[in-house]
Amino acid sequence: QYIPLGVLGALGAVGLVLWLSRRRLSLRGELATAVRRREFFLHYQPIIELDTGICVGAESLLRWRRPDGSQVRPDLFIPLAEENGLIEDLTDQVIDMVIADMRDLLVRDRSAHIAINLSACDVSSGRALKVLSARLAGTGIHPQQIWLEATERGFIDIERARTTLAIARRAGHNVAIDDFGVGYSSLQYLQQLPLDALKIDKSFIDAIGTDSATSPVTSHIIDMAKTLGLFTVAEGIETPAQLTYLQARQVEFGQGWLFSKPLPPDAFMAFHQQRREQYGMAREDMQNPN
Ligand code: C2E
Ligand code: MG
Ligand code: MG
Ligand code: MG
Repeated sequence: QYIPLGVLGALGAVGLVLWLSRRRLSLRGELATAVRRREFFLHYQPIIELDTGICVGAESLLRWRRPDGSQVRPDLFIPLAEENGLIEDLTDQVIDMVIADMRDLLVRDRSAHIAINLSACDVSSGRALKVLSARLAGTGIHPQQIWLEATERGFIDIERARTTLAIARRAGHNVAIDDFGVGYSSLQYLQQLPLDALKIDKSFIDAIGTDSATSPVTSHIIDMAKTLGLFTVAEGIETPAQLTYLQARQVEFGQGWLFSKPLPPDAFMAFHQQRREQYGMAREDMQNPN
């Protein structure tokens, strides 16, 4: 019996969609249990001062290992956690893990910092900041050593975002806009926010040296950050050519596989130590002068 290819294709597509949504449904059910059972851990990706090579700290990146040993990518489970009201509990766990993993390093080396990703809900409610300040108390870690990254996706309500970010800065944290350039930010909008840094999204770094339509945008994005008097951090640097380009444009910090992939805590501390011997220590005061 002859079946037209189009029909087969359509059936295949329907099957794929069904399979994907079932996978999402089952992950959704599992996620609540996983949060309760604390099946998460952190990797740390080194952040490098581009003109000196100094390691100034790391970004904490969440990982989920299920009981069967398989791992789920954060781009998959973070949005699910956001939809299901689990993200604030997860952020609490991230705060606890950063303190447990990095307390010794941060107390030993005041110039080091760890960045924590906040999600939309954290920025709207501001609860994570109260948790953070309560958990930091008595640890010896300075608030200046914890940087916060928030995506624009979080700023559904700009007034609330402004309030939360202002509280964060007053507490001493550095505040960065994550994935900068992929959202809708205008200069005017950014000017209204209390910020220290912009993290340029990887897609703009990927475009460097290519003839893609995005390529010319990268230098505008950098100019925009400079106009606002903010630090710039480039994410996803993979090639020496990208590094050279960013250095030439005075992008202050960067992270990416060219330097290191995200690492387990011990491996990050070894990396940090090795860089320190090779390139020296970071300045202690990296608060934004503006
Ligand atoms: P992000 O905050 O923009 O983090 C950067 C992502 O780029 C990380 O992906 C990192 O592993 C990846 N990356 C860094 N350098 C390179 C590179 O040179 N090449 C390539 N191909 N990739 C690179 P990851 O760890 O999969 O995290 C994805 C996203 O999940 C993060 O994007 C962030 O939005 C979210 N996320 C991760 N951890 C947390 C967390 O603790 N809380 C919240 N709310 N979101 C998190
Ligand atoms: Mg981030
Ligand atoms: Mg980012
Ligand atoms: Mg990104």
